[in-house]
Amino acid sequence: MISNGKCPYCGQVCIVEPCETQAEADKLAAESCGCPLAMHERQIATQVAAAIERMMEICGAEAAEYGFPEISDGEVLSLLGDLISMVGHGRINKAKVQLSGCGAVEISLTAKGRIKVNRTVAKTCGIEE
Ligand SMILES: [Zn+2]
Repeated sequence: MISNGKCPYCGQVCIVEPCETQAEADKLAAESCGCPLAMHERQIATQVAAAIERMMEICGAEAAEYGFPEISDGEVLSLLGDLISMVGHGRINKAKVQLSGCGAVEISLTAKGRIKVNRTVAKTCGIEE
């Protein structure tokens, strides 16, 4: 059992709940460390989790309540979640996924640093006589 966790951001070692692996102990250390980078990372993690929850609302089982078809492909939902995390961490600025038959989902970072998830399903009706 490992109970010495090292914060991956500042290197400070602290006592954590006994863990099976060093990686788990380091993760716990990062979750409790008070250094600016660890705090920033926790803030991003909270933001990413909230954005994924919102994305699931407009794409998952409740999508119909928003007038959108449900995306039932779990792998696609998981990919969207990964993209939200990457946008949240600033690794990519914007991602647009064109879904087959269910419109598109665009994930971007606003000027205020918030994660924006936009779903569009285009509807057109053309009449020619
Ligand atoms: Zn730290």
